[in-house]
Amino acid sequence: MDKINVDNMLAIEEPFIKVPLEQLRRTVRQTQKQVERETAAVSAELAEVLKNQYRLAPEEIQKTLDALIERLQTLKQGLEQVKQEESQLIQRSKLRAMDLNKLREFESTTQPEFQQWCRQRLDRVLIDYMLRSGNVKTAQRLVETGNLEHFADSSLFAQVMSIENELKDAHSCQGALLWCSENRSALRKIQCSLEFELRLQEYIEMIRARNTPEAIKYAKKHLSPWSDTQLPRIQRAMTLLAFSPSTSCPPYRAMFDEARWAALANDFRMVIFQLYNLPAQPLLHLLLQTGLSALKTPACLSSDPSEHNRNCPVCQTETLGKLAQDLPLSHHVNSNLVCRITGEKMDEDNPPMRLPNGYVYSLSSLTEMAATLDGKVKCSRSGQTFKLSEATKLFIS
Ligand SMILES: [Zn+2]
Repeated sequence: MDKINVDNMLAIEEPFIKVPLEQLRRTVRQTQKQVERETAAVSAELAEVLKNQYRLAPEEIQKTLDALIERLQTLKQGLEQVKQEESQLIQRSKLRAMDLNKLREFESTTQPEFQQWCRQRLDRVLIDYMLRSGNVKTAQRLVETGNLEHFADSSLFAQVMSIENELKDAHSCQGALLWCSENRSALRKIQCSLEFELRLQEYIEMIRARNTPEAIKYAKKHLSPWSDTQLPRIQRAMTLLAFSPSTSCPPYRAMFDEARWAALANDFRMVIFQLYNLPAQPLLHLLLQTGLSALKTPACLSSDPSEHNRNCPVCQTETLGKLAQDLPLSHHVNSNLVCRITGEKMDEDNPPMRLPNGYVYSLSSLTEMAATLDGKVKCSRSGQTFKLSEATKLFIS
């Protein structure tokens, strides 16, 4: 019963391992491209100098060579910085793998070391939740107190938040477009059209500003390359030129709608999460939902609050119940009878007692009530009062 199901636990930990590895992969690839680009440029310029060495003045050659050396030195400095970042990511991946590996060493769920591990996991799940919801300072405090620097993806979420805010608040696509260009091949692989949506937004803003010639030029350069997959939308975008931002015509009014900025921010978040294998929902919600789905019964959904059980988290319609809204009902092989008054389990030691009006409560709750109500009990649902002796014992079969 108290054996740890390691495979099940690892199944939800995929992003924990994948995020730093994905960051490392991207850093390596981007650096490699930068090195190739810089060395090709330097080689080309050097070849040019060699070709013209007899025609150029020695000072001129000297100047070009100095510029090339400086360029290579800048590249070297940049690479040293990247090297540091890379070793940090490697260290982070290593520590995370070691942490998950501990699961194989634990023997039971009651072992104090395992419980300690779970508490730390709860902390990182909470950090993930807070970083996603923008509570960065609180997350940072938990990172510091729990010494969880390597277990939090603060830098990734900082990037997400910065680009999202730029879209939502500053109405600018600049950061998001730069991110798309840095991740173009990965986005192409998942057939993502985020860049098209961003380009379309920039085009719409030009029309909003009544800058028609610029908008046409922009569409030719940035929208037409998407004609293979987005032709109908490009055509609609071109028709937009004939409308003013105050139009009431539905499809064009929707294109001018400022709410598109918030939608773009959300699209961006979903795409970056997909690239880093992060689930769209916080891990905290997923874990809570697993538990809630095991507790959800038809009574939890009742609009009559008296049907709800005060000890059932799913019945808390304003809080945890909301998370359970779309979950299926639990499958119960064995039923547990729970007293509505005390929330205690009803069994042979504390049997269910039926009042004359048909409602059932536990013996312990009725005895306790009778002690204060002069041998009488009050049904909490109907408000009727009976003598304790009128309650009949029910037998669980
Ligand atoms: Zn319930």
